[in-house]
Amino acid sequence: MGHVGLLMAKVKVGVNGYGTIGKRVAAAVSAQDDMELVGVTKTRPNFEAKAALAKGYDLYVPDESVQAFKDAGVEIAGTIKDMYKKVDIVVDCTPGNVGEMYKAQYLEAGVKAIFQGGEDHSLTGISFNSTANYSESWGAQLSRVVSCNTTGLLRTMYPIDKALKVEHAFVTIVRRAADPGDSKNGPINGLEPSVKLPTHHGPDVQSVMPWMDINTMAVKASTTLMHVQTVVAQLSRESSTEEVLGILREAPRVRLVSSKEGIKSSAQIMELARDLGRDRSDMYEIVVWEDGVKVVGNTLYFYQAIHQESDVIPENIDCIRAMCKVEQDVKKSVAKTDKALGISRS
Ligand code: NAD
Repeated sequence: MGHVGLLMAKVKVGVNGYGTIGKRVAAAVSAQDDMELVGVTKTRPNFEAKAALAKGYDLYVPDESVQAFKDAGVEIAGTIKDMYKKVDIVVDCTPGNVGEMYKAQYLEAGVKAIFQGGEDHSLTGISFNSTANYSESWGAQLSRVVSCNTTGLLRTMYPIDKALKVEHAFVTIVRRAADPGDSKNGPINGLEPSVKLPTHHGPDVQSVMPWMDINTMAVKASTTLMHVQTVVAQLSRESSTEEVLGILREAPRVRLVSSKEGIKSSAQIMELARDLGRDRSDMYEIVVWEDGVKVVGNTLYFYQAIHQESDVIPENIDCIRAMCKVEQDVKKSVAKTDKALGISRS
């Protein structure tokens, strides 16, 4: 299927919602040789709209915003409905629960759509993660790339479960309070527990791995860089730290780091991403502290860090390939996406 895919026309992609996730999806689509970015949508002619134009992206806007863009002298290529006519698939990156309002439009226009983790699983009936269930979205009309934290849990827990069968897992998530470009959200002081328990992250993992017994709690912390998760998993048999490290070393889009090499916190992980010269200093991989992995009998303990702005981006690209039937082999899609985004093991 892979070579057939290359002979086929490029998949035409539109991005609805040009924020933290949408900007990155647009850039990642542009970096693939089997996809074409038709354009992105903006609701206001602000600095981000101008920056998108400067990158060469066509802008599509809601009917009610056309005049504001004209008044501001920001060039548009058409309305969002015009964009539907030119694309095979829309990646919906609007804020949580806004995507839901667009579902009927996508279906009516006959375009496929990918939603993000801010929407409920029930909106699409299929949720996506490259490592765990690529083929479930094969040819699908609608799918949903799960949230940043859930993507992190699936990338590591799926291969661990496959090898060692997880009886049950308990995860505490220390969440970043706001993204770096956001000056509205908080707290900027204090630690804020999510009191609605258990948190939604466990059921979200189960939307892809329904058999997994997993419970989660979360605390918001005054940081913008990354989330950190502490995982405690009960395995079906005794294992060893070395065995689990071997599994994680082979796991796609998982990067092992060590506090001994100076990576003591999320701050140094972001510094590493800058040093790697990644677009927007992104760390697409889930980062596990090698010296923070420990197995005692049947119990596995480890820490992992999640760059919330970017870990779901490669998944969106693979999801496009699965839904548009471009590549049947998940390994080939993952390798292609990773090469285009500069994700390698070193
Ligand atoms: P964001 O607020 O940064 O971006 C959303 C964009 O959509 C903004 O540019 C906004 O102007 C635009 N928008 C708002 N209403 C719109 C409308 N009616 N039509 C078109 N565009 C509209 O949000 P985000 O952080 O990029 O989140 C997008 C989705 O991705 C959410 O479902 C979120 O849960 C999910 N997600 C976010 C993160 C994260 O950490 N930021 C991580 C993973 C998944």
